[in-house]
Amino acid sequence: MRNSLPTYFNRHLLELLEHNQGHDRFNRVDHPRSISLFVLGSFAWPYIPIKYYFGNSVLRLFSQVGHSITHLMTNEIAFLTCHQKETVVAPILKKQGFLVRLESSFDTDSLGTFTGETPRALTQIQAALKKAQLATEITSCRYGLGSEGSFGPHPQVYLLPWNLEVLALWDRLEEHAIYAILGTSETNFASEKVSSLNDAMAFAAKSDFPSHALILGTPTDSFFAKGIRQEAEFQDRVKAALKKNPSVWLETDMRAHMNPSRMRSIQHTTEKLSALLLSYCPQCHLPGYGLTELIKGAPCEICAAPTRLPRAEKWSCLKCDFTEMHPLHAVGPAKNCDVCNP
Ligand SMILES: [Zn+2]
Ligand SMILES: [Zn+2]
Repeated sequence: MRNSLPTYFNRHLLELLEHNQGHDRFNRVDHPRSISLFVLGSFAWPYIPIKYYFGNSVLRLFSQVGHSITHLMTNEIAFLTCHQKETVVAPILKKQGFLVRLESSFDTDSLGTFTGETPRALTQIQAALKKAQLATEITSCRYGLGSEGSFGPHPQVYLLPWNLEVLALWDRLEEHAIYAILGTSETNFASEKVSSLNDAMAFAAKSDFPSHALILGTPTDSFFAKGIRQEAEFQDRVKAALKKNPSVWLETDMRAHMNPSRMRSIQHTTEKLSALLLSYCPQCHLPGYGLTELIKGAPCEICAAPTRLPRAEKWSCLKCDFTEMHPLHAVGPAKNCDVCNP
């Protein structure tokens, strides 16, 4: 059974989280019910898995009672409407008996935008969790879903673009979060400063325009425009902007409804979430149990020094801290050994 379960985090992702986000320590997110929620050493995670501490014993008791009546409750997941992500999320979660309920009364852009009009105060995983928690608060649904994407260079191959998607599912009754995380280079993420219409058209061509929208300028420019999807409109806007400035900034629009590649990433992240929902902790029986860490250093077949191959997978429950080790490689080939093959 265990072998048939998918791998939830890939190795690129582990390294990305370790290298790019290792500075964020002890970030505190206020829980909507005024229970403190600490995300401990969050972004050294998965090396230090996310933990929460709740001090409210009444809620915990309520949670235990609630657990026994789970089957009586509807499986509605509240999702704050943002950029039509529900079109890929809802069908996948429906297969597991969840009904995604849209909530449009909250503007998720107030938590930060890609284009920088509103700076982001929370880290990516915190922002996803915050949206999920807000969704449950606004709707009084038991479950809430939060989505957050980020873009940057590939963690190993710097010239490749990289998209990191996070989906957080919050179970308000159990005070339990499940995170599905996906890293992919299948993105058109790019930006460029151009000083002629020809350069602008070349950028558009390599950015999958017009199926993928573009952004012209930065939020402080008078000619700033997002979601440009018409070629004539794009040309007119670039020409007008170049009359005011010798060069202008162009950027791919990464919002899901403007970017089919991003939408596909969200779909694949939902598939991961769907798999995690079927993976239960052997101890507390909550879903979301999965791989949280690859233990490095399988011993070299010749000299027994630790190689670059992982020796085990660590599976953890983020709720009760139950942990299991699953051995991967008893020995590593000498070609992966820094001593034998430096
Ligand atoms: Zn558990
Ligand atoms: Zn060796």
